[in-house]
Amino acid sequence: MALRFYNTLSMRREEFVPVNPSEIRFYTCGPSVYDTPHLGNYRTFIFEDLLKRVLLHKGYRVRHIMNITDLETKGLLAAKQAKTDFWKLMEKNTKIFFDGLGEFRVIPAASYPRASRNVKEMVGAVEAMIKRGHAYRLNGDAYFDISKSKNYGILSKYKFTKKELNNRVRLYDYQRFQAGDFLLWHRYRKSHGKIFWSTRLGKGMPSWNAECPALCMKFLKIPMDIHAGGFDNIFSHHENEIAQIQSLTGKIPAKYWFHVRHLMVDGKKMSKSLKNYYSVGQLKRMGFSVIAIKWLLLSKPYTKKLNFTLEGLREFETRYRCFKTTMRHIRNLKRCRTREHFCSVVLEKRRLFFEALDDGLDFGTACEHAMSLVEEANERRRKGLLCKGCMREFVKAIREFDGATGAFPI
Ligand SMILES: [Zn+2]
Repeated sequence: MALRFYNTLSMRREEFVPVNPSEIRFYTCGPSVYDTPHLGNYRTFIFEDLLKRVLLHKGYRVRHIMNITDLETKGLLAAKQAKTDFWKLMEKNTKIFFDGLGEFRVIPAASYPRASRNVKEMVGAVEAMIKRGHAYRLNGDAYFDISKSKNYGILSKYKFTKKELNNRVRLYDYQRFQAGDFLLWHRYRKSHGKIFWSTRLGKGMPSWNAECPALCMKFLKIPMDIHAGGFDNIFSHHENEIAQIQSLTGKIPAKYWFHVRHLMVDGKKMSKSLKNYYSVGQLKRMGFSVIAIKWLLLSKPYTKKLNFTLEGLREFETRYRCFKTTMRHIRNLKRCRTREHFCSVVLEKRRLFFEALDDGLDFGTACEHAMSLVEEANERRRKGLLCKGCMREFVKAIREFDGATGAFPI
């Protein structure tokens, strides 16, 4: 069965057909390291990893790039508030982010380019947009002119009226749900302190908007196969990215756009600004396993919001412990006295497991199949009805499940 998943661009669930089957080009928006990632951010990264793992399981080669946004005005403010050096804070949070990825058993990307180490490319891209008349300078800053964009709103489905385009506003910083000419280059301001580059655009730093487009074009050929991120990246981050890359290449940067919905905590969005978030460390200290957290984060489809509650997590913790205990017993299986083979059940559950993943990465259903297989194997073991050969087939299937999800370590 082919993989099908929801594409924000077409607003449909589509069968995945690669641009070039010899290598899938996959770009995921990385963390803004002015702060440490919360569980909601990890839900996005884990679903992106699931998508990549399923593609790898199908035998594709995947070139995955994830940026690290270590250059943002919010970071300047965060460092000032924490009374710490800007770069030290960025490095500290980047390390915490990577530790979290490791704990969740996320397969590393081919490269994690840091925005701050690729300023030259960003400057080059902004200069080229100005040259084409798609961007302009204003008091040392540079803005993208959205009225020059062929189809601004193509991803978010925002329709502009002529009036909006003519009386458009200029957005100095990221503002939700407001469209306007967006900033590409910040001229140096006193508040930037020691953070600046002396470039052909003058002294200053790139805007957040200009970072991902330059990195996509540097590290991956356009068009890419899949561009992924959190749901709130759709507008304006990804809309702005399409406008810029289209201005420079004439192409929509990616064929499929994959966006993971928010994590809610007791009905409210989990976010840095609302300060209602749990960290992985906090939950571990409360006695939860990282894999149980992962099961919970993946339990609802990525196109749906997930409401996080501690009771919900407790249930997954119990199930995960049952999985671990069963696997331990089964691997220690010594004797068997059966001719009643179990292999056909293993094959059937294996089929159902991968069918669920192909069906929009439905981990929740896949996990149900895996657990019912585990329970049945355990039942047979207790009754002495599990032979060594079937046990080997069973363990092989669980290993394969783990390869495709990173969620069944044995
Ligand atoms: Zn991005």
